[in-house]
Amino acid sequence: MRLIQHFIDGATVTETPARTGDVFDPSTGQVQAQVALGDSDLVARAVANAKAAQPAWAAMNPQRRARVMFRFKELIEANMDELAEMLSREHGKVIADSKGDIQRGLEVVEFMCGVPHLLKGEYTEGAGPGIDVYSMRQPLGVAAGITPFNFPAMIPLWMCAPAIACGNAFIIKPSERDPSVPVRLAELALEAGLPKGILNVVHGDKVVVDAILDHADVKAVSFVGSSDIAQYVYGRGASNGKRMQCMGGAKNHGIIMPDADLDQAVADIVGAAYGSAGERCMALPVVVPVGEETAERLRAKLIEAIADLRVGVPTDPDAHYGPVVTAQHKARIENYIQMAIDEGAELVVDGRGLSLQGHEEGYFLGPTLLDRVNPDMQSYKEEIFGPVLQILRAKTFEEAITYPTAHQYGNGVALFTRNGDFARKFASSIEVGMVGINVPIPVPVAYHSFGGWKRSGFGDLNQYGMDGVRFYTRTKTVTQRWPSGGAVLDQSFVIPTMS
Ligand code: NAD
Repeated sequence: MRLIQHFIDGATVTETPARTGDVFDPSTGQVQAQVALGDSDLVARAVANAKAAQPAWAAMNPQRRARVMFRFKELIEANMDELAEMLSREHGKVIADSKGDIQRGLEVVEFMCGVPHLLKGEYTEGAGPGIDVYSMRQPLGVAAGITPFNFPAMIPLWMCAPAIACGNAFIIKPSERDPSVPVRLAELALEAGLPKGILNVVHGDKVVVDAILDHADVKAVSFVGSSDIAQYVYGRGASNGKRMQCMGGAKNHGIIMPDADLDQAVADIVGAAYGSAGERCMALPVVVPVGEETAERLRAKLIEAIADLRVGVPTDPDAHYGPVVTAQHKARIENYIQMAIDEGAELVVDGRGLSLQGHEEGYFLGPTLLDRVNPDMQSYKEEIFGPVLQILRAKTFEEAITYPTAHQYGNGVALFTRNGDFARKFASSIEVGMVGINVPIPVPVAYHSFGGWKRSGFGDLNQYGMDGVRFYTRTKTVTQRWPSGGAVLDQSFVIPTMS
């Protein structure tokens, strides 16, 4: 059986791993590969190699590092089909969606091609008599990223592109459920001219994560995954003195005003709720129609649109979405559907029990629609992360916006309206990190930054954009005065001021 190995110091690790994990094909339910699971010794080895390689990389001028990023971008583009196929086979998302996953990561690589400009510091001439002040951004050393299963290309690239472009060495700890793509990306980076040891992949579970969090030479850790783990990782890493950014789960709401373009809103919501089988942290699993009339019209159109959805294997070009990632995850989603029914929600469309001919053991789930959900239900309060859409009816705009604000998660939210006044109030007052106005999945472009509020994000710097540059660098500020041959200044026992 195929063994997915670690990639350290520019080479595939060759030793037989002491532990391995199964990697399933979600379309068939069969084990398709084994992934090596590392330990603290392997983490120590990867960090030591990375630490040794980093100073020379950091010393290379930023324009030369940018050229490596350009070449990396070109190689990802040239290998898009192979990467997408690899991604779909382990994750289960349809090929077109896998290309989107890679493309959104690639856009961060593109942004980092501008690293010479992004690293420019600040300068003040004449801050005091003969005194100039300047600040510069310097890399941290070795940083690491721990990534979830649902975006095996985009999220590793969100992290490693700013980290390496800024002059750090980086270690990716991918999800053990779909670990192949990050390894291929690291190989492509090497081919692009990145020196050995600057981008490494160490596979594993909690053992490897804890080893990364406890290693003194890992200066910063970026994490994306579920909230309980994000909070744990944040706490352990921060208590060890590391710079941390940890993104967690989500439950994003889409509010539909009576004046919305309903046909467009339904098309947007169906794509955002069921695309990638709902396994996106920026999916829209809750829709909040304002007013009974809006709710009835929306519900009828959703039923119609759902009837046209096609669930299939990732290589089916007509499939809208594929299987969910594992048998356990499928069972978890089905439990949430049953929980919602038991809590009193109305099951409008039931996606359970879907069987795909020839793929009966695959982890397929049809689209599910639940109406008359209320905010006290546990199935509403928690993240389901599957092809399940819940309708939560509100009487007024004011009531509707209380729901995303009160929710434990605050990743994304969307408002569908033609009214600019409502849109402005919404954007300004809602307690959620990423807001869409008639945009269902408001993942910010690569030159802004990605981050949720409340239990969707721990730490204060977001992913990519200028926050990515800030996260992977530290500022040094120099205050300088050069001898000018004038009189010796009096000694002073008072803190220098600008008075
Ligand atoms: P997960 O939390 O199970 O795993 C994420 C990472 O943590 C993996 O690399 C995993 O190996 C590691 N891990 C798992 N258990 C651990 C433990 N006990 N101790 C230390 N490390 C551990 O998440 P997942 O199921 O892979 O991904 C789905 C989740 O990620 C969802 O909650 C989704 O909303 C969230 N997500 C959030 C964002 C965001 O930017 N906010 C983006 C994508 C996914």
